[in-house]
Amino acid sequence: MELEKIVLKWALKNAVDHDGKAMTGPVIAKVIGENPELKKDVRRIKEIVEEVVEMVNSMKLEEQREMLMEIAPELLERKKVEEKKLPPLPNAEKGKVVTRLPPEPSGYMHIGHGMSGLLNYLYAKMYDGFVWLRFEDTDPRKVKPEYYESFRRGYRWLGIEWDDEKNNSDDLELFYKYAEKLIKLGKAYVCRCPIERIRRFRREMKECEHRSQGVDENLDLWNRMLGGEFGEGEAILRLKGDMRSKNTVMRDPALFRIIDHPHPLTGKRYKVWPLYDFAVSIEDHVCGVTHVLRTSEFALRDELQNYIRELLGMSNPIYVEYSRFEFKGTPVSKRKLRALIETGIASRWDDPRFPTIDGIRRRGILPEAIKEFTITQTGFSYAKREYDWSLLFAINRRLLDPKARRLFFTPNPVKLLVEGSPKISVDVPYHPDNRELGSRKIEADGEFYISGGDFEEMKVGDVLRLKYLMNLKILEKKREHVRAEFLSREPMKNIKIIQWVPVDEAVRVRVMVPDILYINDEVNPNSLKIINGFGERAVEDVKVDEIVQFERFGFCRRDLEPEPLFIKAHD
Ligand SMILES: [Zn+2]
Repeated sequence: MELEKIVLKWALKNAVDHDGKAMTGPVIAKVIGENPELKKDVRRIKEIVEEVVEMVNSMKLEEQREMLMEIAPELLERKKVEEKKLPPLPNAEKGKVVTRLPPEPSGYMHIGHGMSGLLNYLYAKMYDGFVWLRFEDTDPRKVKPEYYESFRRGYRWLGIEWDDEKNNSDDLELFYKYAEKLIKLGKAYVCRCPIERIRRFRREMKECEHRSQGVDENLDLWNRMLGGEFGEGEAILRLKGDMRSKNTVMRDPALFRIIDHPHPLTGKRYKVWPLYDFAVSIEDHVCGVTHVLRTSEFALRDELQNYIRELLGMSNPIYVEYSRFEFKGTPVSKRKLRALIETGIASRWDDPRFPTIDGIRRRGILPEAIKEFTITQTGFSYAKREYDWSLLFAINRRLLDPKARRLFFTPNPVKLLVEGSPKISVDVPYHPDNRELGSRKIEADGEFYISGGDFEEMKVGDVLRLKYLMNLKILEKKREHVRAEFLSREPMKNIKIIQWVPVDEAVRVRVMVPDILYINDEVNPNSLKIINGFGERAVEDVKVDEIVQFERFGFCRRDLEPEPLFIKAHD
């Protein structure tokens, strides 16, 4: 890009950001910041910038915006979420799309479930369709009442509304009816091989003797299975698939097995339970599902599910795949997360380092941020993608920035004594631009806490400003405190501005600082830090769940603790 165009771009940007009036200084800084090699030509740059700024300032704001849109659209504010659209669904008609949220209530809901739920929900909404919440709960040993609730709570929090709800465990009689139909068609048989033999034969592509049993014998064995004559592992109903198929899923998979364990919803009424693929095939038909949005690792199962439906004369939904939602350093596997709890690295499932929806909410991530992330980042491809948390944090920060109150917090505090300081009472706004957030009064009389970080960086003789309050000069630095002298109150140019808390008003604050759980597959020893410090008095009024910005520290959510405990979401 030639120099004039670079200058024009930044002049327009500066003007658009400042009600149509660009200023020379910031434009020069941007031009050189982007092209450091121009530093040696500062004089020439300054001349060009002055000329261009004058030209830009003679334009109307609308014209400036239009021109910026033309030459550097990336510098314009990002479009609102509502304007961002998901790609269209194949073969989708308005009013005819039916999708489903298909959680297995065998663990707590995590962000992957949330993003997948959002896709199914947003697509149904996009086509004025219908959404089912359908619990895939046909493994009584795994499902628990609290997990059902975790999904309902999580979906609601994300703003997902479902039109109807059901459980696969409601439909056992229906599943049995279709099983009998498959047996009568000669497409399913009761196998009584031990599990190891079944596995070995599937691997070796060999058929067992039970495959050639007649329909009557299979029906008799099936009824005996239902009648409770066999124990666990003594008999399964298998599909007559293709033992030589390249897709191992098709090698006579089990359709039903015996599980002698009470189910949280149906108790001990049933002992013969369908496997996932059979239950899903039937239920997608029963629910009239038109589009199945699911991650690519389920792709091999489509052939099986479609085959089952074809045998039963049912039509198949359209499958839309997207890559699995995985975040760097954060496993979603229940086994791995449980291990972290059992070894004491975490104590609860809503730990702010966890990818569970409860953990993410507790950390201070907004549901709107997850929604925007899902819409903008979902890749409809087979490629496995590992997301970086920083992308989600950047969206969250942009959403929080205009509405979070800003407060003073001094981590690892050190005392500051200001000699000659007048007694000052200042009215400090909670937000520099959003006046609706109000303000608070802070009284100061010369004794403060400042952050340990600012203390480390200051040198005797430095001139600093306590934000909103006064300018001072550092006189002496000791291990535990620093002494300074009052200079003046009006803001001075080009001096460092730091946060402060009056000693009289200081409120003890603890902040939990979460980080990723794993680094290169090893548990990160610094995944959770506790930082102690002092906050200003207003910190006491922060309500549980409110997210505030501790200035120059980060966005933090007030958690449920008697003493002010915050959890840092991100910078
Ligand atoms: Zn067998």
